[in-house]
Amino acid sequence: MIKQTVVIVGSGQAGFQTAASLRLEGFEGEIILFGDEPGLPYQRPPLSKTYFADADAQRLLFRNADFFQRNRIKLWDNARAARIHRDRKEVELEDGRTIAYDKLVLALGTKNRELPIPGTRLANVLQLRTLKDADLLRHAAKNASRAVMIGGGFIGLEVASVLRGEGLEVSIIELEPRVMARAVSKPISAHYEQLHAASGVEFHLEESVTSLTGNKKGEVEALTLSDGTRLNADLVVVCAGVVPDIAIAQEAGLAVENGIRVDAHLRTDDPDIFAIGDCASFVHAASNRLVRIESVQNALDQAKCVAKNIAGQKGAQPQAYDRVAWFWSDQAGTKLQIAGLTGPADQWHVCQSDSPEKLTVLAFKDSQFIGAETVNNASDHMTARKILSGRDKVSFKDFESSGFDLRRLAREKTRTG
Ligand SMILES: Cc1cc2nc3c(=O)[nH]c(=O)nc-3n(C[C@H](O)[C@H](O)[C@H](O)COP(=O)(O)OP(=O)(O)OC[C@H]3O[C@@H](n4cnc5c(N)ncnc54)[C@H](O)[C@@H]3O)c2cc1C
Repeated sequence: MIKQTVVIVGSGQAGFQTAASLRLEGFEGEIILFGDEPGLPYQRPPLSKTYFADADAQRLLFRNADFFQRNRIKLWDNARAARIHRDRKEVELEDGRTIAYDKLVLALGTKNRELPIPGTRLANVLQLRTLKDADLLRHAAKNASRAVMIGGGFIGLEVASVLRGEGLEVSIIELEPRVMARAVSKPISAHYEQLHAASGVEFHLEESVTSLTGNKKGEVEALTLSDGTRLNADLVVVCAGVVPDIAIAQEAGLAVENGIRVDAHLRTDDPDIFAIGDCASFVHAASNRLVRIESVQNALDQAKCVAKNIAGQKGAQPQAYDRVAWFWSDQAGTKLQIAGLTGPADQWHVCQSDSPEKLTVLAFKDSQFIGAETVNNASDHMTARKILSGRDKVSFKDFESSGFDLRRLAREKTRTG
């Protein structure tokens, strides 16, 4: 039998996992995994968390070099794909090399959103996506005393927390009236605003930055906000969200809609090309909405699903992607966890808690349970995931009858399910 070649573009969380899972699924063909960053594939979440303190780059690696050799995964670093030639099933790299594929997996991730304001090229105006960014930030933080985060989303808040811990004065500028507004409920935003404020972080909500100004050495010195306020800063971190890195897919004529559009089996409109992780948009089975999810869980589970679909026997039914979404963030000494996609919620319920450090907020849409946000409550988080992965829908009434006790409800559902 002729062995197939799978080429994976992007060696981040999703790309690496696809290569590893293909071998676990018994795929015997050639696997070529390449990405535009230097070195071995690594995980990003610690970059805004523990990496600040330990700077242990080795601990970030998914696996060491030996793993790639043993599993016959050809890993090319510093290799950026410039275009896809679908007619001859080849990927062309920026240096002109070409690689032929039978199946192509695009795991391109995202790039940071650029701010269209003057001054973003000044020294000490940084961002955070890669290990290199994290090293620059750590270094800059050592010599800084006043940091400003542009953006109060997960990463902005995590970095604020870490910099505060290093003794810097920290301010956050956020366009929305509350932090993490696109991702969490009002009670969770309020909880975190309180926690961060208590640790000394200053908030400027419903504000944007109109310009950054520098000193004679070209280093950032101050920011001007939309209300005219001037904030002094010797370190600015732009955490203004990300956009999917989809240029090569678009140029190749693949369908794109807030990400590379894939079907339930994570296939693009070209049957030999898949897209997964942060760069892919798909119809979320439970809510029937087109979504693009930026999380480790999504990258890992989509990679496993694609590996199954590529390695599966000819004629076998392809597997649909239908995993429960979940996410975490570490901030201000707490763990925030989200189960399900709570974006469309039209009703929230804050559960009674036995401790002020714990919080559970349940999300409902049309009286059906769609997710839970928890702070320092891993047990509620895991139970919510269990309920969401069950066959039956669970209603607000079901929660009411169980006294909003997630474990009791889960037990009852397992008994009756
Ligand atoms: C600082 C930080 C903290 C985070 N914290 C959390 C967290 O706490 N919890 C959580 O669930 N998620 C977190 N995330 C998000 C999580 O890391 C991503 O969802 C995950 O990495 C997505 O995996 P991916 O493979 O789709 O993309 P990535 O891991 O971004 O990998 C994509 C790779 O493809 C490369 N690439 C792009 N285009 C090309 C090309 N043309 N040719 C070659 N290579 C290319 C990119 O440079 C990149 O290396 C965090 C992200 C960051 C940046």
